Amino acid sequence: MTTFQDFALPEALQHKLDALGFDKPTPVQERAIPAALEHRDILGSAQTGTGKTAAFSIPLLTKIMNHADVYGIIVTPTRELALQVDEQIRAFLSAKSKIRSVVLIGGASIERQVQALGKRPKIVVGTPGRIIDHLERKSLDLSGFNYVVLDETDRMLDMGFSAPIAEIFSHVSKERQTLLFSATLPKNIQKISAQYLQNPVRIEMGQVNSVGDNIVQSTQFVSKDGKFEMLVDALREHDQSAIVFMNSKFATEKMAKRLKSAGITAEAIHGDLRQSKRERVISNLRDNKFRVLVATDVAARGIDVPHIHQVINFDLPRQTEDYIHRIGRTGRNGAQGIALNLATRDDMEKLNDIERLINPNAAKSAHNRPAGKPARKKPQAKGRWRNKKSNRARAA
Ligand code: ADP
Ligand code: MG
Repeated sequence: MTTFQDFALPEALQHKLDALGFDKPTPVQERAIPAALEHRDILGSAQTGTGKTAAFSIPLLTKIMNHADVYGIIVTPTRELALQVDEQIRAFLSAKSKIRSVVLIGGASIERQVQALGKRPKIVVGTPGRIIDHLERKSLDLSGFNYVVLDETDRMLDMGFSAPIAEIFSHVSKERQTLLFSATLPKNIQKISAQYLQNPVRIEMGQVNSVGDNIVQSTQFVSKDGKFEMLVDALREHDQSAIVFMNSKFATEKMAKRLKSAGITAEAIHGDLRQSKRERVISNLRDNKFRVLVATDVAARGIDVPHIHQVINFDLPRQTEDYIHRIGRTGRNGAQGIALNLATRDDMEKLNDIERLINPNAAKSAHNRPAGKPARKKPQAKGRWRNKKSNRARAA
């Protein structure tokens, strides 16, 4: 087990970590801290609350304490976040530390910020707009800044900050180290990464609450009796490998048989099968020996078959969190995927729970409309979840 001692941090910093009860690094810290200490660029994704702030702050403070010429700038999407990051950094410093940080955010006195910048702080934390203001006034000179962090990058891009980010990068040192953190790594983030990072270490932690935006999700309301027909339609429409999720072991077996008699090759997988049998099913799926895997949640955990194009929730998951695990079986490695929920009127509450989990910031979703209508023909129409937003994974 890794401890902070393993990183050989400066004594004063180690002392602070102990005092703060940071006993051992979180998984993202365990990977990011040594890489950052080795001057590597980092492309990191991990859900909210996994300790990303310390993951980039601890190496920055270590470098500042050990070398004279390290300056760090941390760019965050919101004022609150900038303040939080600054607070975390200050908590790592002793009261008599000479290391200064300054927060550059809108809504606060710009004069005071100019004054603080005059003292050549080692650390700048700010939002793109205010950082640009200071660059334009020439109250901020970033040419010596060689440790650049983009925090919550997906959110910054959602907020339209890609031009200010480009502007900031044009001012910082060419000899820099760049760390990019994001809850998710959709295409636009990978593009930013390719633009500004050099050979980054990629750190991806289980993204429990997030759904890549390469997965198109939709919900089809249907009566219980109409479900099977709808399933067959959906499978025929795409004619590619798929996983159909069900909530009981017995039901998966029955469904596999039913699909086979409808002319669709299928196999069931569930927890009662012997391990060897399960492995055989998965390897046959991987080799395209059949098209549709009918699975329970437990059996499907961690299945990584690249060509799964479609995930269909024949039954919505009992545990809301399983939704994320289920649809994460498609869209592997950035491929396109589709997820379809076959929902009955009784599923409204569950759908809302799922929507809240994957999209905590959204107001009302498409699912909140009355469920009175019978099944519609086109699954993609109204029930489709706006993916850009679903893709946000934050605890608000
Ligand atoms: P993220 O940026 O990933 O959402 P934060 O950096 O805000 O997460 O950290 C979440 C909380 O966990 C903070 O209160 C932070 O102080 C705390 N924390 C971070 N790392 C550790 C650790 N190694 N041990 C104990 N608490 C930690
Ligand atoms: Mg954070």
